[in-house]
Amino acid sequence: MVDPAATIRHADIAIVGAGAAGLATAIFAARHNPAPLIVALDGARKLGAKILVSGGGRCNVTNVAVEPDDFRCDNPNPLRRVLRSFTAQQAAGFFRELGVGLHEEERGKLFPDSNSAGTVLAALVQEATARNVALLTGHRVLGIAPRAGAFELLTSAGRVHALRVVLATGGMSLPKTGSDGTGYEFARRLGHTIIPPVPALAPLELEGDFHASLAGVAHDVELAVQVEGERAVAVSGPMLWTHFGISGPAAMDASGAWERARAEGKRAAVAANLVPGRDFAAVERQLLQRAVEHPRERLPGALAELLPSRVAAAVAAHLAIPSDTQLAQLARQTRRRLVHALLAWPLPVRRSRGYTHAEVTAGGVPLREINPATMESRVCPGLFLVGEILNVDGRIGGFNFQWAWSTGYVAGSACAAF
Ligand SMILES: Cc1cc2nc3c(=O)[nH]c(=O)nc-3n(C[C@H](O)[C@H](O)[C@H](O)COP(=O)(O)OP(=O)(O)OC[C@H]3O[C@@H](n4cnc5c(N)ncnc54)[C@H](O)[C@@H]3O)c2cc1C
Repeated sequence: MVDPAATIRHADIAIVGAGAAGLATAIFAARHNPAPLIVALDGARKLGAKILVSGGGRCNVTNVAVEPDDFRCDNPNPLRRVLRSFTAQQAAGFFRELGVGLHEEERGKLFPDSNSAGTVLAALVQEATARNVALLTGHRVLGIAPRAGAFELLTSAGRVHALRVVLATGGMSLPKTGSDGTGYEFARRLGHTIIPPVPALAPLELEGDFHASLAGVAHDVELAVQVEGERAVAVSGPMLWTHFGISGPAAMDASGAWERARAEGKRAAVAANLVPGRDFAAVERQLLQRAVEHPRERLPGALAELLPSRVAAAVAAHLAIPSDTQLAQLARQTRRRLVHALLAWPLPVRRSRGYTHAEVTAGGVPLREINPATMESRVCPGLFLVGEILNVDGRIGGFNFQWAWSTGYVAGSACAAF
């Protein structure tokens, strides 16, 4: 890493932000063309804080199957094109070349064999350094101004003149890692629209106290976020009940749609199918059949086949169905009320836990303002944008890093073509 006191006043390519997307851009630019002087400026004293905390400290690098449907954005066509330009398989090959083997875990997630995010960060930094990229830590960029077909960057450690600039400043999630949203202001001043950012992949706080008694219980659910006047957004996966509400992949995947609706002043309701993969007829049939086979069985026992017994007991109690009710005694109306409740259990969201707990930021620079063949701005020639600053957010599972690698590959190859 270059001594921050070192003075670089002129660069061919200045990358603002040396997180996942910035480092990938630097490496692919240097691989594409070793001639230009490439600097990556980062305000942090130490690089890669977000990579290090990612995936519970293990860094879920990508996913075996990455599809446009795994992301939310303003335009799926450029998204598809960028993902095709550098696929998850290419990302896995790239990390293998850097000495980071990956293995697959549940839901297609790929993690480093070392099970340590430090390996991923070290490999990226080592490769960038080996390719003569100047990694300037402690260089917070304060302003970017176009100057006669090039750019002047004002940093906390002096001015840098650059022919091309890559904005890789990330979003606003986990601001203590250095991603505090200043990049949006740079992009706006350089002519871009900013779709108002909202936290996504964040746990959700619930009203009431139903959740509190279930803290620590995790199970599969299907969640539906119903925003007024829109089609419901459906997500599925494990959900964790907590003392404040809900967390886990399903809850976090649902949070972005809820936050977006709230930011737009729309009403949004979240409901859980606590017996995923089943509909009303299937659940009712199962209860009826069980009542014939085991008429004296108590309700929580019968429900335990469908969902964790603690959740089943809490649902029954909430509906005021005594826990010692035997299946044969369950009145038709009560049974139907119970089945309806299991299929659409209301989750009264008070708020999400916000940027300090969000894994990603939704919103940012719309893809329609970017050329997906190069990641160059359509409104400010010579400016490129990569990673989370763009209006793309993926679900949990390695998709957000894949977006960083893919955009870094496309921008790196294009911005280094002199
Ligand atoms: C807790 C947590 C866990 C996560 N786990 C995963 C996971 O396992 N898999 C996955 O795919 N995704 C995960 N993510 C999301 C993923 O980390 C991000 O999507 C990804 O890091 C975005 O990369 P980026 O380079 O665009 O932005 P960032 O990683 O945020 O990097 C931006 C960089 O820009 C620098 N910067 C910002 N402003 C300035 C400025 N003005 N001047 C100089 N430098 C600046 C920052 O210091 C930072 O280093 C996780 C996120 C969090 C918060």
